[in-house]
Amino acid sequence: MAPTTPTSVQPVPPGTQAGSGSPPELVQDATAHLFNARNAAGYTAQMLRGVTAVAARVSRCTRPFTGATPAELKSRVDGVDLGLPLGDTASALEELEDVYLRDAVYFHDAKYAAHLNCPVVIPALVAEAVLSAVNSSMDTWDQSAGATMIERKLISWAAGELGLGGSADGVFTSGGSQSNFQALLLARNQAVEWLRLDPEHAGFRLPALLEKLRIYTSADSHFSIGKSAAMLGLGYDAVVSVPCGRDHRMEPAALAGELARARNAGLVPLAVVATAGTTDFGAIDPLNELAAAARENGAWFHVDAAYGGGLMVSGRHRHLLDGIHRADSVTVDFHKTFFQPVSSSALLVRDAAMLRHVTHHADYLNPAGALDRPNQVDKSIQTTRRFDALKLWLTLRIMGADALGALFDEAIGLASCVGEVLDSDPDFELAAPPQLSTLVFRYRPLQPDGRRLHQDAADRLNQDIRSAVFASGEAVVAGTTVAGRHYLKFTLLNAEAGVADIRSIIELLRTTGASLLEAAEVSA
Ligand SMILES: *Cc1c(COP(=O)(O)O)cnc(C)c1O
Repeated sequence: MAPTTPTSVQPVPPGTQAGSGSPPELVQDATAHLFNARNAAGYTAQMLRGVTAVAARVSRCTRPFTGATPAELKSRVDGVDLGLPLGDTASALEELEDVYLRDAVYFHDAKYAAHLNCPVVIPALVAEAVLSAVNSSMDTWDQSAGATMIERKLISWAAGELGLGGSADGVFTSGGSQSNFQALLLARNQAVEWLRLDPEHAGFRLPALLEKLRIYTSADSHFSIGKSAAMLGLGYDAVVSVPCGRDHRMEPAALAGELARARNAGLVPLAVVATAGTTDFGAIDPLNELAAAARENGAWFHVDAAYGGGLMVSGRHRHLLDGIHRADSVTVDFHKTFFQPVSSSALLVRDAAMLRHVTHHADYLNPAGALDRPNQVDKSIQTTRRFDALKLWLTLRIMGADALGALFDEAIGLASCVGEVLDSDPDFELAAPPQLSTLVFRYRPLQPDGRRLHQDAADRLNQDIRSAVFASGEAVVAGTTVAGRHYLKFTLLNAEAGVADIRSIIELLRTTGASLLEAAEVSA
């Protein structure tokens, strides 16, 4: 092919390019929305409008939710004609109040006690504004510059707090599920690399090598472990569910039994996955024992500390993570117990070299050989990636780690008090004493005959209580099952909520339950 002749281009003022296809006024209007030097004042004014709308809403919030139904919200959203832009920020924010803000679920409210969502700290919100405006992308040095150095410093800070040693590394991820997936991907590829050293496996394609690999995790571990196994081509059934004791922690003896069974069957233990803070009970598996068992069996030791990770900055409960320094990899969710906005999570690894299992050199992006360029894409399963690390950075620079730890400690203390309240209340059954900041319990009052409400009736009733309370918007609680029975769950992460707030949720659950029972009797 003949080389094309370069045509000379004359500089033209913005919005007046000939032949652009759009009318110049339209282009001019559109460029007024671009974030740039010319529009810096408009940027400030519009951001302020957005922030002011949120502040106004939050200062008027008196409960976590309005109880708006899916049908109501759908019809309001459907009523918006996307073909007719409103043209200005003020009008769009007014409309947003109607289709979203007023009826959002607010995690900062003292009566939001459902999932692992936290009230967020303001330093992180400042960071959100900064990182989305500058819009660095973490994949390569030439899209991020200092952002890469900040992310790297935070990774080594977190690895240092966990005691992972001088060769540790890691990367920010979108969440605990992604961190767990990447950990198991590294573990799988490492195991495959070992298997390939055996001449017996010469020439095997990957799927043939996956057949014998097994992952060991507790029956209470997060579902993302099983889902990761499935996505990694191992199948859900490659995950061996190890029983827990009454405290919902993995039984080391049961793990030893399973590992012995695997050896006898010629299977390869790919990884032992411990949980530091299970989603329902906040249980922390015996990390030292599990680390030893993994080591003896040549298995990767991953610790899912998506929930319990915040203990690393706790003044009072840090010891609960004892043994985590022996992990090959750790998942930490900053958007749970570090009070960061979604998303902010990290995967940390003991041996930086393990991250090579996700390295791919693309000529257009991070060509092999450009070793002087610190490209984070070499460590990540994402390509374009947000600078979420900035949120933790500004949080640590403004508040400091001890202040974050104090917020989590407060929630743990609250859970312990609420545990006593529920335990001494004859209308409620507490499934287990709280270990971090969750409580699993159910409403099961004594009946006139002196017996507790029948198990099956209690199952239905507790599900109905949860729905009714959510529909009222007065409080939001979660639900879960324990041994096939339906329970309610509090997840407490709000350091401003007091025992009185949670007591009033408990009263709401009781009165809701009592009136549902009464209504059922009347209709029976
Ligand atoms: C929340 C949670 C996850 C999943 O994290 P996401 O950030 O929601 O993807 C994984 N493991 C545990 C123990 C969790 O509590």
